[in-house]
Amino acid sequence: MTVGTDAIPLVDLQAAHLEVAEEISGGFRRILASGAFIKGPEVAAFEREYAAFCGIAHCVGVANGTDAIELALRAIGVQAGAEVILPANTFVATAEAIVRAGARPAFADIDPDHLLLDPVSAAKAVSTDTAAMVPVHLYGQLAPMDALATAAGSGAAIVEDAAQAQGATQGGKPPGSFGLAAGTSFYPGKNLGAYGDAGAVMTDSADLAQRVRLLGDHGSERKYEHVQLGFNSRMDALQAVVLRAKLHRLEEWNERRRQAAARYDDLLSGIDEVILPRTAHGNVHVWHLYVIQVPRRDHVVQVLNEMGVRAAIHYPVAVHLQPPFRGYGYGPGDFPVAEAAADHIVSLPLYPHITVAQQQMVADALRRALRASAT
Ligand SMILES: *Cc1c(COP(=O)(O)O)cnc(C)c1O
Repeated sequence: MTVGTDAIPLVDLQAAHLEVAEEISGGFRRILASGAFIKGPEVAAFEREYAAFCGIAHCVGVANGTDAIELALRAIGVQAGAEVILPANTFVATAEAIVRAGARPAFADIDPDHLLLDPVSAAKAVSTDTAAMVPVHLYGQLAPMDALATAAGSGAAIVEDAAQAQGATQGGKPPGSFGLAAGTSFYPGKNLGAYGDAGAVMTDSADLAQRVRLLGDHGSERKYEHVQLGFNSRMDALQAVVLRAKLHRLEEWNERRRQAAARYDDLLSGIDEVILPRTAHGNVHVWHLYVIQVPRRDHVVQVLNEMGVRAAIHYPVAVHLQPPFRGYGYGPGDFPVAEAAADHIVSLPLYPHITVAQQQMVADALRRALRASAT
């Protein structure tokens, strides 16, 4: 089979761009004429619009998603040496943000059905040093927030990692409404993606929003008045232009992702070696990633890639086993569900503009890859 132009990409950013290209060039011209490149009215407008879209009182634009989580943890007062609970199955940034905030990552396992932070394992990770818990709304659906809040108890604040869950809800409620705050990322490949790095903190607390804003802008509210030590973590206006244009389409694009996910469910349900992703009760899933589980995973992915299907793995190694986190006393076997999932998960191509024909090709290729790997 051919690869190259016929390949089915994991995500198709170009197709999304074509829908917003004109609006974005117009916006870029406006910013170039204004000379306001960092923060400014465009960023303020996006913050209002995204807060309204989410149904959260405040959105504070920052430089990226990792900063969003770090600044949220700092703003809620996580102290150096405190412990912060997170799932072993997540993008490394969740753990980085915790360490950068001065805390110690306390990993917990995931549940086998949804691959999200498991409340039973999270409860076991709680200690007298626990300051916070960071549930990750991985792949596009929310972690089980009621059970996790119970597991956290009164001593641990909750900050949500909503980088993969833009537009997702649980019981009709958005990320940021369960914990004190949620951090999100507008990395280009996210459901709402910028053309560079960007991120945001969402919170219903005006006080917390203000603290994040201060931290992200050199500890300053007025130019050259620095009330505390801060950071440089601001959203730039060109990214806000892109995000505003795309935000108008996000609901429709998420709906198209849901339709594509349902189509994969149909196309793949007859293959008995494949475990399909499941949506937890009460969740509206936005399908950042469509993650199946298969036997002989590495071989299957290799064959898929050779056939031009750009399947990927999110993530091939559980975070507690990555070199930077080995010093915290964890090892192989500590989180069996996360470690087993890391060996079997495959993310199939999924994006709003994927066609039925492309999805059929992916399904056919998967059948062939499973057969090829069995011999
Ligand atoms: C993308 C992502 C982040 C970090 O976002 P950046 O903008 O790359 O810093 C954090 N957590 C998860 C789960 C992510 O997918």
